[in-house]
Amino acid sequence: MSDWKARGEDYWREKLTPEQFEVCRRKGTERPFTGAYCDEKRPGTYVCACCGAELFSSETKYDSGSGWPSFYRALDDNHIAEDTDASRGMVRTEILCAECGSHLGHVFPDGPAPTGLRYCVNSLSLRLDPEDE
Ligand code: FE
Repeated sequence: MSDWKARGEDYWREKLTPEQFEVCRRKGTERPFTGAYCDEKRPGTYVCACCGAELFSSETKYDSGSGWPSFYRALDDNHIAEDTDASRGMVRTEILCAECGSHLGHVFPDGPAPTGLRYCVNSLSLRLDPEDE
């Protein structure tokens, strides 16, 4: 078992690109419509860019028009942690990788059926493992 949460800033600085470090480890936000997976349509599993934990399936990805990859359901609720984010004058629900603590984005209650949820995720926090044809 690897203790991802024990890995310090130096480890992540070395492992991640500067852009990824800013989003994943400093809770930054990539500019909308700039992420690699915004318009991604390939089938597969989206895993944590930091630790590889399985987070979302392409089957629950949809076009929210927000400019960020959006999903209506987590692959496994146990893989995603939530925290209250009161920054920027609003109260939002931050989502994090439960395994390594990487910042993913936020979840909002304005998603489509069947869940009514919108997991709004930075492309930089994800890596798509495409399904083999
Ligand atoms: Fe992770």
